[in-house]
Amino acid sequence: MTTPLTGGCLCGAIGYAVSAPITALRACHCTHCQKSSGTGSSVNAIMPSAVFQITQGAPKRYADKADSGRILYRYFCGDCGSPLYTHRETAPEILVLRAGSLDDPPGVKITAHIWTASARPWSHIDPACEQHPGQPPAPAASR
Ligand SMILES: [Zn+2]
Ligand SMILES: [Zn+2]
Repeated sequence: MTTPLTGGCLCGAIGYAVSAPITALRACHCTHCQKSSGTGSSVNAIMPSAVFQITQGAPKRYADKADSGRILYRYFCGDCGSPLYTHRETAPEILVLRAGSLDDPPGVKITAHIWTASARPWSHIDPACEQHPGQPPAPAASR
């Protein structure tokens, strides 16, 4: 895995680069990720926003309101609909990248599952992974 890593949406209108290696992946089984992905969970790499750069196009943004009232901005391609990344309204310095949008898979496995309480029955959760029924404690978000 050499940096910068590159990725983008399905149609190619949006491209990005990541200037730091990805060391961990986290699967989110919350109901909002299920709706926005159309599948059981999202798999994400969490990184400082400073290492992420859009190199082509401009993603659209959806302001998703959590049950807690917090706003999570979900960025996606307005042409093909691919989800790309999210960040909290109150924490723009932390970016949560949809790992499936990377051109090449980072050489790491999923290390943690969150919001497992709402996981779909068909989702496989490796019992060896860290698991949280809801949102994990704050420090995990900056890992
Ligand atoms: Zn697209
Ligand atoms: Zn989620």
